[in-house]
Amino acid sequence: MQLDDHAEELASALGVDKEEVKSDLENLVQYSVPLDEAKQSIRRKHGGGSGGGSSPSTKDVADVTPEDGSVNVTATVLTVGTRTIRYQGDDITIREGELADETGKLSYTSWQDFGFEAGDSVTVGNANVREWDGNPELNLNDSTTVAMADESVAVDYPVGGDADLIDLEPGDRGRNVEVQVLEVEERTIDGRDGETEILSGVLSDESARLPFTDWNPHEELSEGASLRIEDVYIREFRGVPSINLSEFTTVTELPTPVEVKESAPRLDIREAVDTGGMFDVEVVGNLIAVRDGSGLIERCPECARVIQNGQCRSHGAVEGEDDLRVKGILDDGSDTVTVVLDAELTEEIYGGDVADAKEAAREAMDKEVVADDIREEIVGREFRVRGNLSVDEYGANLDADEFVESDDDPAERARELLAVVSTEEVGA
Ligand SMILES: [Zn+2]
Repeated sequence: MQLDDHAEELASALGVDKEEVKSDLENLVQYSVPLDEAKQSIRRKHGGGSGGGSSPSTKDVADVTPEDGSVNVTATVLTVGTRTIRYQGDDITIREGELADETGKLSYTSWQDFGFEAGDSVTVGNANVREWDGNPELNLNDSTTVAMADESVAVDYPVGGDADLIDLEPGDRGRNVEVQVLEVEERTIDGRDGETEILSGVLSDESARLPFTDWNPHEELSEGASLRIEDVYIREFRGVPSINLSEFTTVTELPTPVEVKESAPRLDIREAVDTGGMFDVEVVGNLIAVRDGSGLIERCPECARVIQNGQCRSHGAVEGEDDLRVKGILDDGSDTVTVVLDAELTEEIYGGDVADAKEAAREAMDKEVVADDIREEIVGREFRVRGNLSVDEYGANLDADEFVESDDDPAERARELLAVVSTEEVGA
């Protein structure tokens, strides 16, 4: 059904002007308000109540479905996350998390503060059910009531939101982690309110490493700090879960250092690519080619994108800044991945820095000599590469943190291969 049809239906149900309803609907949808919720909000504006007219039914959590319209449930609150979203031009603070009873668990979003906390057993009256990401979700708004339950509801799920990094998934809210800060940098972004300072970097505990973004910089986030961070939410960024800190997140220093994950899982390239993206992974393969756009390159000073002939796709004609990088194709027999080496790793292979590379290019009167030297150095050799894998419609890229010639002894592998060949010959 088109937006226009929804407006038509709603307008005739409420007996109000269709154009007004349509304009309100468009407004809400533009601010990413789910359609069902947008319609609900317009019904309320025109005094239409819950719209369906039927009274909510009392249900077990496991039996709640999006077809219910509205329900009453009695459950224990597992997590409470707080976040601000923009709605019709205003910043609104919402609470979101999960609640559960003996039968199952369910996500909720609360558009106002009912004052409940993780661990509370509550009876929620007249909550809207909507579908979110294929699952039912409770929507607590100003026609919902929340009261402490008469008896506490026992649940099989952990209460309170504490999690190991390995267990975090996109969509999680109100989570608490104990981590060490491995990397942190300050960045300026163009946010919805203009330029904003944020922090980004890498956190680790004993189970995994994950990237983070702190939208409201907390000064405790310094490299090496061991911290308890409460009330974070998880989003997917380039196929991996990313930890988000907001103004509602609290950060406290821990008296003892948090152990960090030292090694990355080693996978076949095919397995790794099939995951859709991994923050920290190790693969081993043959470097079969160095792609164009490697060696001595120029970047836009504004956005750091690689530019061609002094032209940035976003910023037009710019004075490019010289840089070094390698895009190499790594093949392990299962699949290939493009390995991207930054200036530091490229310098190690090339045996010189940007100034050396420029000097060589000047002498040869050709920038390509730098890429050619790199080609000669690495193509045909086997490397162990550790880094962040992202997969999109253009292919798989592995941003390398480590790029070292494989420890596996090639002579040993050659002997193994010969052994297989000679066995086959004998067999034939
Ligand atoms: Zn640019």
